Amino acid sequence: MKAVLQRCYGSPEVLTFEDIARPTPADNEVLVRVRAAAVNPLDWHSVAGWPYVMRLGSGLSAPNDPRMGVDFAGTVESVGKQVTQFKPGDEVFGGRSGAFAEYVVVREDRAIARKPSNLTFEQAAAMPIAAITALQALRDHGHVRAGQKVLINGASGGVGTYAVQIAKSFGADVTGVCSTRNVELVRSLGADRVVDYKKEDFTAASERYDVIIDNVGNRSPMDLRRVLTPGGIVVIVGAPKEGPWIGMFWGVIRAAMLSWFVDEKFEFFVAQLNRDDLDSLAALARDGKLTSVIDRSFPLNETSQAIEYLAGWHARGKVVVHVP
Ligand code: NDP
Repeated sequence: MKAVLQRCYGSPEVLTFEDIARPTPADNEVLVRVRAAAVNPLDWHSVAGWPYVMRLGSGLSAPNDPRMGVDFAGTVESVGKQVTQFKPGDEVFGGRSGAFAEYVVVREDRAIARKPSNLTFEQAAAMPIAAITALQALRDHGHVRAGQKVLINGASGGVGTYAVQIAKSFGADVTGVCSTRNVELVRSLGADRVVDYKKEDFTAASERYDVIIDNVGNRSPMDLRRVLTPGGIVVIVGAPKEGPWIGMFWGVIRAAMLSWFVDEKFEFFVAQLNRDDLDSLAALARDGKLTSVIDRSFPLNETSQAIEYLAGWHARGKVVVHVP
């Protein structure tokens, strides 16, 4: 089968498009014929091996595992003999390392779920990492309740477009922050208000929020605290893209430390892919409360260009690859 592989660290150009053996599912695994996969900032970080501390886990001088990609959607090709919940022909989506390939194997009890029939393969593949991040940020860390005021900084990107819709499905009053060209998009996803950061600084306005989901990391904790209601929560999802990697961690540590001294909370978390949350997202999609905004779709053999495009950090929704 064809697969995108990473044999060394560098820019996305180092990725190769190779013929490798098709995986065989173990007794508890499902073999999926991938129809679409999605690109995430994680893929760019994996290719670059940056922040360097990541290499402690993935390989110091070259990746230990050359497979690339996580988010996928496709059709079940075959199943191991202990698998009971999926059968050949089922349309599924989920997350598993090695998704930039024609086939991927996933354990039945891991991050794989039925694809909602009202989503295309590309729309379903777009969801796992970004939409689970949005869901866990709002539900598990922001503890968002109906009627609360929620601000989403970076509302037009992968995580942001899902966060706006999920926050609305929780009954929150949602403000999205994005650039001028994306104002109408964010409004169309259900935001009650949209702040165009090219024209207005939300941290200098009088509006207060119970929960801030920060996908961008371009504001200091003190700036964000100024627009929180007393006891409010900032959920740190993304970090600034510029500057030395130590600065990225310092921003998160500084914010977490501030929580020790004030009533407001600053929480950083790393999203965890799992079946239950995929099922929750699928249910929202089936109810018409959640969909994917696809910015661009690249063929599998142009995955490096897809990652390069996402690395411009101004994607509108998700960047995906399609597998012929
Ligand atoms: P995207 O590349 O899809 O989103 C980038 C978005 O950022 C664009 O829509 C852009 O909007 C927006 N943006 C850029 N500058 C600004 C600004 N000054 N103010 C407001 N918005 C801005 O990334 P994702 O949404 O997939 O990920 C967001 C962040 O979350 C990344 O840092 C990623 O690494 C992190 N992440 C963290 C996870 C975790 O577990 N903690 C999991 C997944 C992602 P515009 O074009 O309108 O400027």
